[in-house]
Amino acid sequence: MANSRFEYVKQFERENFLLPDTYIVIRVDGKGFHKFSEKYEFEKPNDERALKVMNQAALKMMESFPDITVTYGDSDEYSFLLQKKCNLFERREMKLVSTFASHMSVYYMYAWNKEFPQKPLDPSRLPTFDARAVQYPTFRHVRDYFSWRQVDCHINNLYNTTFWNLVIRGGLTGKEAENRLIGTVSSDKNEILFKEFGINYNNEPEIYKKGTVMVRDYVSSREEQELSERQLQRLEKQRRKANISTLHVDIIKDDFWNERPWLE
Ligand code: ATP
Ligand code: ATP
Ligand code: MG
Ligand code: MG
Repeated sequence: MANSRFEYVKQFERENFLLPDTYIVIRVDGKGFHKFSEKYEFEKPNDERALKVMNQAALKMMESFPDITVTYGDSDEYSFLLQKKCNLFERREMKLVSTFASHMSVYYMYAWNKEFPQKPLDPSRLPTFDARAVQYPTFRHVRDYFSWRQVDCHINNLYNTTFWNLVIRGGLTGKEAENRLIGTVSSDKNEILFKEFGINYNNEPEIYKKGTVMVRDYVSSREEQELSERQLQRLEKQRRKANISTLHVDIIKDDFWNERPWLE
């Protein structure tokens, strides 16, 4: 851009460079998806095809940004972990956050149109996502972060499964079902499901109970710090081409992480 007397306004811009050598997690979340799910008549408590749309969008995110090593999501959210050394947009927070939110929104819309050709999106209610970036200093924090999201998925799913069975099959109004569930703990909800609806919660689909984790099957054999520039480039290429697995498994226990030490 040519210099002009107006250019001084650029100096008002502020940039937050995220700290180096820390894990960055970017979480995207659908805006007003409670309403969105009503408008497009999602099956309750879980619309399988809507989850498929989320998962397809998240997969596109992983394909577009090789710095993402693992991602976890459920409902209308996904959390993307960027490798510690990530230098995407020089770690500029605004660039990262706005790019993730916009990419997720367009990928969601693209996947929606393919999955639901008979439900065209209404221009007055299009799917959009917000995004935030959080930095964690140690892998223990990262592990706890993902555990937090998976516990949240479990708690919400148990609640929603019980709530919607009380409404759809039990004939209660939303308000009645809500009141019925006030003060109940997990075991109470399991019992309502089993005694009143013959549902063993343990047998519910894993994707509902555990959410979805996608991970790049990339194995780094040596300490990356020791590698030359060329070897690093080769690794980067491997990472880009690595197969991405989609799983519905426990990420709170150690197994998932122990099997993939390169994530740390
Ligand atoms: P970044 O991702 O960093 O924003 P960029 O390539 O988008 O990179 P910008 O500084 O945003 O760079 O510049 C946008 C560029 O897009 C312009 O320099 C111009 O080349 C091109 N461009 C945008 N709109 C038009 C248009 N309507 N017709 C022709 N070229 C356009
Ligand atoms: P906000 O804009 O603050 O995020 P929100 O309405 O999106 O508000 P969330 O807490 O993000 O609220 O909850 C998302 C809601 O979207 C869920 O509570 C649920 O009602 C609905 N939802 C998302 N995915 C599905 C799905 N696959 N099946 C059924 N309902 C879903
Ligand atoms: Mg939301
Ligand atoms: Mg949400």
